[in-house]
Amino acid sequence: MHPLSLRELNDIGVERLRGVGERKLKSLTEFGISTVLDLLTFYPRRWVDRTNEARLSDLEPGREALVLVTVRSVVKRQTKNRKTMVTAVVGDGSGRLTIVFFNQPWREKQLREGVNISLFGRPDVFRGGLQMTNPVVDMIGDRTGRIVPIYPQSEKISLNTWEIAGFVENALERCEARGIADPVPASIRARLGLVDRASALKLIHLPETMADQARARRRLAFDELLRVQMVLVMRKRALEREQRGIRHDTSGELIGRLRAALPYTLTAAQERAIIEIEHDLAGPHSMHRLLQGDVGAGKTLVAVSAMLTAVQGRHQAALMAPTEVLAEQHATSVRRLLSGVSVPDPANLFGDRPLRVELLTNRVTGGDRRDVLAGLADGTVDIAIGTHALIQDAVQFHSLGVVVVDEQHRFGVEQRAALRDKATGDAVPDVLVMTATPIPRTAAMTVYGDLDVSVLDELPPGRTPIATFWANGPLDEIAVWADVCEEAAAGRQSYVVCPLIDESEKLELASAQETFDRLQAGELRELRVALLHGRMSSNDKEAVMDRFRRQELDVLVATTVIEVGVDVANATVMVVLDADRFGIAQLHQLRGRVGRGSKPSRCWLVTQTEPDPVTGKVDPSPRLQALVASTDGFELAEIDLELRGEGTIMNTAQKGRSDLKIASLRRDRELVAQAREVAFELVDADPLLERNTVLLDEVRLLFSADDEAFLFKN
Ligand code: ADP
Ligand code: MG
Repeated sequence: MHPLSLRELNDIGVERLRGVGERKLKSLTEFGISTVLDLLTFYPRRWVDRTNEARLSDLEPGREALVLVTVRSVVKRQTKNRKTMVTAVVGDGSGRLTIVFFNQPWREKQLREGVNISLFGRPDVFRGGLQMTNPVVDMIGDRTGRIVPIYPQSEKISLNTWEIAGFVENALERCEARGIADPVPASIRARLGLVDRASALKLIHLPETMADQARARRRLAFDELLRVQMVLVMRKRALEREQRGIRHDTSGELIGRLRAALPYTLTAAQERAIIEIEHDLAGPHSMHRLLQGDVGAGKTLVAVSAMLTAVQGRHQAALMAPTEVLAEQHATSVRRLLSGVSVPDPANLFGDRPLRVELLTNRVTGGDRRDVLAGLADGTVDIAIGTHALIQDAVQFHSLGVVVVDEQHRFGVEQRAALRDKATGDAVPDVLVMTATPIPRTAAMTVYGDLDVSVLDELPPGRTPIATFWANGPLDEIAVWADVCEEAAAGRQSYVVCPLIDESEKLELASAQETFDRLQAGELRELRVALLHGRMSSNDKEAVMDRFRRQELDVLVATTVIEVGVDVANATVMVVLDADRFGIAQLHQLRGRVGRGSKPSRCWLVTQTEPDPVTGKVDPSPRLQALVASTDGFELAEIDLELRGEGTIMNTAQKGRSDLKIASLRRDRELVAQAREVAFELVDADPLLERNTVLLDEVRLLFSADDEAFLFKN
């Protein structure tokens, strides 16, 4: 008999295990455990090392500690103000301790005399002895062994952690005869120092030492990451296999003309990204590349260079932005960049014709729209800039060669399908996805793992770093408005960003209007101030932006519509009101609106945090602290990941059973990279995994139907 696969383990119900009767089965099901696979991957929450715990005689007042003890006695009482109070005396041979719980009447039943528990808490001196109030309690039952696994528990569900450990032990014993299949070849395991899967499953639940536990965790985390990477790498390779790309002509002179017209030289990072992109464009496969770069790193130029490459081979290019405002801004800056560039025209004996850039959004209507559509269809429009409408509408391109997608979120499978439909013949356009939200390298490997990545990790020279300050409460705010007034007196400009209101655009507008009225009547009454918000018509918005650009305004009070794209070098102060409502990435984007010229710029993060009632102190949130301390987008992205956890990053990419249960994009950075390498190694040796059906089968088992459909459609 061949060793058991995960699918086979998933086909065995837990009711087949010793000790699992109707009642236990119900409890297990409430934990989401119905098969042996569910049980084996229900990992302990932590592990208590008996040899490493404090003894009661070692406890010191005021110092948190973990102790393993036996309950000696329990009493429940009512306090004077009608709270219940459960008091227990516990001991461990070295001494005794009193523990007290308020408002947890059920503790009386939980803490029966003679039961073994672990306690985590802070002992304090009370009436001459030590006492812990509301410690964390884990039931560890009468399990022997040095290391005790502690499983996630819940008061409502009557399952003890040692019962779960017992079921796991029984399950593992019964797997022993056949063994558990290992999809990672022994040579790779040896190279990476990974234990085999059967040992890993045993040692995660029943480790002899903490080192065992760590080895087991590493292997199981690797397996989770490997499955994610297998899906991504197989998808990437499948695209390369199936899609015929366009071999772009990278030898023409347009890029040279663009460069010659630039008032600056490219950064090394821009040069590198352009080379990587040209390499993809010249190749036979269609490009799927992510361009990551901090605000102001110069992504637009890189994107324009890719689009020009298409144009010089007589193809067209499209740039898609997530909003109409952004599309309009892109159109402006792309036209500006290309104003000095004309296209060689074979139909014209005298040489060149002007390059034609057109905007296509839902706001372009009537005759203008018909014009643009006709130009796209007959190829006289070289570059189209717009929203998703560009690929979704009944838009026909003469020959679409390069698509640039500017967005925070990933470019979905459906959009790629829509793009394929825009292709003329069966060659698929090359795709460059730009994101201004840096994400940590390992997270990028997971979220964008089917794309190649170019990084602009360098800002153009001559930028002065932006100093960031936290201003809390009305007193600090005085300094903020004084700064805005001083800059205005010196001929420079400021932005004020209004509080973010998630629930409703209407409320947000009301609050922006209120902020504007308050400032104009108060602190900024001497200055020329205007309001900009998302509900304004694009003409009105453009008019306000124009006045700001022409320096007819000192201050622009705005909602987050200015988050991206606004580029006014004379603006030196960014004030963000209620800054603690914004996330790190968004604040970093907002701050990137200043610091675009040679004058030093400042960003004020304004909050109204109340002091702690006990200590009287006020501290900025960790997010605001991070922004004050760093202007490096990649560093901030790491901190963001640290603070928010990976859930937020992962949920767009993977869902359901493929969630990472034990691996962590934060803790396991090195493993992510190793899993990715192994995935390439396995897929390149055996593209359809015909010789590793164990792995193929578990990827199919553990990934959602969508992913599967995409992967295995052939
Ligand atoms: P991003 O889109 O990455 O935020 P942009 O492409 O909007 O950045 O560029 C930001 C600003 O920097 C623009 O004003 C652009 O003209 C300028 N810029 C781009 N590349 C360079 C460079 N190599 N040297 C100097 N300035 C540059
Ligand atoms: Mg830009």
